Amino acid sequence: MKAIDLHTHSNASDGTLSPRELVFLAARSGVDCVALTDHDTVDGVAEALEAGREVGIQVVPGVELSVIYQNREMHLLGYQFRPDDPLLGEGLAKVVSFRQERNPQMIKRLQDLGISVTLEEVGREAGGTVIGRPHFAAVLIKKKVVRSMREAFDRFLGQGCPAYVPKDRMTPAEGLGLLRAAGAIPVLAHPYCLGVGSLEEWVDLLSHLRDQGLRGIEAYYPEHGWADIQRFTRLARDCDLAVTAGSDFHGANKPQVRLGGVMANGGTLTGDVCIKMKEWISDV
Ligand code: AMP
Ligand code: FE
Ligand code: FE
Ligand code: ZN
Repeated sequence: MKAIDLHTHSNASDGTLSPRELVFLAARSGVDCVALTDHDTVDGVAEALEAGREVGIQVVPGVELSVIYQNREMHLLGYQFRPDDPLLGEGLAKVVSFRQERNPQMIKRLQDLGISVTLEEVGREAGGTVIGRPHFAAVLIKKKVVRSMREAFDRFLGQGCPAYVPKDRMTPAEGLGLLRAAGAIPVLAHPYCLGVGSLEEWVDLLSHLRDQGLRGIEAYYPEHGWADIQRFTRLARDCDLAVTAGSDFHGANKPQVRLGGVMANGGTLTGDVCIKMKEWISDV
């Protein structure tokens, strides 16, 4: 029985594998249904779909959008759109422009800290359309300013650190509206990140998001323990949402996560839940 992974990043955003390499790795890893969900871009989707046809596995078009909710980042995954949808293209171009405003400010902060780094260097590291903090981190590692991604985020790039600059973001309603207008199916990514407390608060939030177009919740995620999975599965049922599974694979930028490793121990998801999920993502 083959596994599923509906949350992965290629070098079109802040992963390290090309879309094609990622799809081939999925096939080799026993994953026969994989979504490419790069941050703020669908530039890798066509290549991934082509590779999926070549290697004979299902590739789902996807994207991951950051929106702002109560001063925290909320990530929305969108699935099964037409990659050339003009509304999606326009919306994502706006999001990428938020990044383009932020990147020179982060360079300035680093330079003010006495670290010699240029926007060109970070852009070269990124390669594609989307420049993200992991690319800043990679340059800092190459320059031996820090030894690891972790140190780069802890000392410089993480929220509240001296080189961190927040980027402008849409509200959840705007993000859901954009995804839906583009024909994408919105799913709440890694819900544990939101730090929502009580069950009651969760029901409130999820019902509200569902009314704005949310269709699913990523109940299976490597940072989720068994209790989280059960809680999010129950909430999904109560709020009429589907459950999905994603690893958030980033290649060498997140070496502890392997493709298809959606469970806390890095294990894959197979069995009835997986079959149901594959049916859902194929039919939405
Ligand atoms: P950005 O979209 O440019 O703000 O960068 C966010 C990305 O940085 C996330 O999608 C992760 O890939 C990565 N990231 C965020 N926080 C950390 C962290 N503490 N350690 C390593 N990577 C991180
Ligand atoms: Fe990322
Ligand atoms: Fe995310
Ligand atoms: Zn992600």
